[in-house]
Amino acid sequence: MSAIRKAASRGHVFVIAAPSGTGKTTLCRRILEEDEKLEISVSHTTRSPREGEKDGVHYHFASGKGFRGLAESDGFLEHAEYGGNAYGTSWRAIEAPLESGRDVVLEIEVQGAAQVRERRPDACLIFLLPPSLEILEERLRGRGTDEEAVIQRRMALVDRELAAATLFDYAVVNDDLETAVRQVLDVIAAVRKGRGDEIEASFGREGVLSRWEGRTDA
Ligand code: 5GP
Repeated sequence: MSAIRKAASRGHVFVIAAPSGTGKTTLCRRILEEDEKLEISVSHTTRSPREGEKDGVHYHFASGKGFRGLAESDGFLEHAEYGGNAYGTSWRAIEAPLESGRDVVLEIEVQGAAQVRERRPDACLIFLLPPSLEILEERLRGRGTDEEAVIQRRMALVDRELAAATLFDYAVVNDDLETAVRQVLDVIAAVRKGRGDEIEASFGREGVLSRWEGRTDA
């Protein structure tokens, strides 16, 4: 991996990661609706499009060869394998919005978030938690887009994903969607103003995680 790219640092980089099924896609869509200074980074992936997904909008759908080529030429800020497919955020996906002073949201899985931590240490990492592991599994089944084997594979990754939460700056529990949306927007607003310390008590990762683990339904 190359050195940290410091250029294009006018805007902020916000990473939102969570175990799959926690609802981060819906949450990210809502925060983008609410805050017009935010732009989503469109990732590359080798997985096939799901129904309704458009190339260049939801993802840049790439062949294995195309993806590897971009990785080898250091075209990615981060990339990772997840559920048998490759996913990555290209530098290009974040540079244009950052140069124009907009803030970028990366909706990615945890291995990628760890790479962002290294290569863009100024990024703000927000971890989204499900209300409980039981509810997470119900949500994965409920969306009906994945086969049972895929659901089982994703649940098997959850422990590793939760362990990686210790790398993050802030955490929010997605119990009620609109509450979680407001809380993530509060975190974003505080970070923009350089006042992260003011939200530490409510959303500091350590405190949120220990309260979450202490929940009786978790
Ligand atoms: P899905 O296949 O359900 O769209 O995404 C699977 C997982 O890959 C999700 O956790 C999603 O957030 C993550 N993901 C999507 N884009 C990227 C990316 O660019 N980099 C990384 N590391 N993960 C991504």
